[in-house]
Amino acid sequence: MSWLLLICVHRIELDTMIIKSIVKTHLAVWGLLAAISLTGCRDAISLPGADPGGSAGAGSSQASTAQPCTDDAEIIDGKSALEYAACQVALGPRPAGSDALRQLAADLRKKLSAYGYKTDYQDFTAQTPNGSVSMRNVIASWPGSQPGEYLVGAHYDTKLLPDCAFVGANDGASGVAVDVEMARMLAKKPLRHGLKFVFFDGEEAVRRWNPQDSLYGSRYYAQEAAKNGLARSIKAVFILDMVGDAKLQVTDDYFSSSELKNALNAAARDLNLTAYFPGSRFTAIEDDHLPFIQLGIPAVDVTGFGSFEGGVSPAYWHTAGDTMDKLSADSLSAVGSAVLLALRRLDSAKN
Ligand SMILES: [Zn+2]
Repeated sequence: MSWLLLICVHRIELDTMIIKSIVKTHLAVWGLLAAISLTGCRDAISLPGADPGGSAGAGSSQASTAQPCTDDAEIIDGKSALEYAACQVALGPRPAGSDALRQLAADLRKKLSAYGYKTDYQDFTAQTPNGSVSMRNVIASWPGSQPGEYLVGAHYDTKLLPDCAFVGANDGASGVAVDVEMARMLAKKPLRHGLKFVFFDGEEAVRRWNPQDSLYGSRYYAQEAAKNGLARSIKAVFILDMVGDAKLQVTDDYFSSSELKNALNAAARDLNLTAYFPGSRFTAIEDDHLPFIQLGIPAVDVTGFGSFEGGVSPAYWHTAGDTMDKLSADSLSAVGSAVLLALRRLDSAKN
C-alpha cells in the first residue's frame, strides 16, 4: 500500500448505518459524562492550574512510573488537561459554524487571556460543499525578546456527523487540552522567541475529505501569514491532534519535518517516554501542519492517528464512541511534556 492509499484510509467515512446503530447507546453515556464534567469546568476556567481533584478519563497508564532522566524536564499536568478535554466534550458536538464551537472559542480566549496572552479571533467565511460557513481561528500570542516565533496549534472543531452525537474527546478536545496546559506552563516561564497558540476552526471535512474540503482554518491562517509577511517569522510549527488515547503511540508522519521529529523523539527519550514515541509506524498524514509545510516552514503533526492497534484509526474514530473514557491523563501529559521540552531546546539553541 502506498502512502497515498494510507491517506485515503485515514479519511474513509464510516457507513452512516453503522453510526446510527451506535448513536443511541452513546448518547446516554455522553449525557452522563457531560453532566459530570460540567461541574468541574467552572473551577478549571476560573482557577487555572488548580488541582482538578479527579479525572474523567480511562487513566490507563503506559509509563506512569517513568522518571525523566534530564534536568530540563517540565511535566505537563495530565489531569488538568483531561479535565479541560471533559469541559469541551460537555459542550456537545462542535462542528464549524455551531454555537457550541463559538462558546468554546470564547472560553479559549478567556482562558489564554487570563494566562497573560494577547488574544484575537481570526474570522473568515469558508466556501464548503454545504455552502458558506463562518469560521473563527483563536490566536493567543506571547512576544519574544528574539526575532521569530514558534506556533503550537490544534483544531478545536469536531467532525460534522448528522444524526450522530460526535463529541470528539480524542479527535479535537485532546490536542486543545494539551495546548492549553502548555500555554499555562509557557506563560510562567516564557520562551526567548515569540510564541503563538492557534486553535484552528474547520480542520474536519464538511463532507468527504479532499484538499478543498478540509483544513479550512489552517489553510486560511497560512495564506494570510504568507500575504502579510508573518510566515517568514515562523520558525517551527507543532500541531497536536488525537493525542489522548490510553494506548497512544505517536506516528512517524511522512510529511512532518525530520528535524522536528528528531527533536521530539530525543525529548521523549530523555523523559523516559519512548513508549509513547516508538518512532516505528511510518504513515503519511494530512492535518493542519500541511499548509505550513507547503510554505516551506518546518512543521510536525504530533498525533496517534496512523498507529492504532489493528489499523490506522481507532474503532471509535469519527463515531459517537469518541468519548472521555478513551482518554488517559498519562498520554496527555506524555505528549505535552515531550513537545514542551523539544520546544524549549529549540528555543535555547543559538539561532
Ligand atoms: Zn477527525
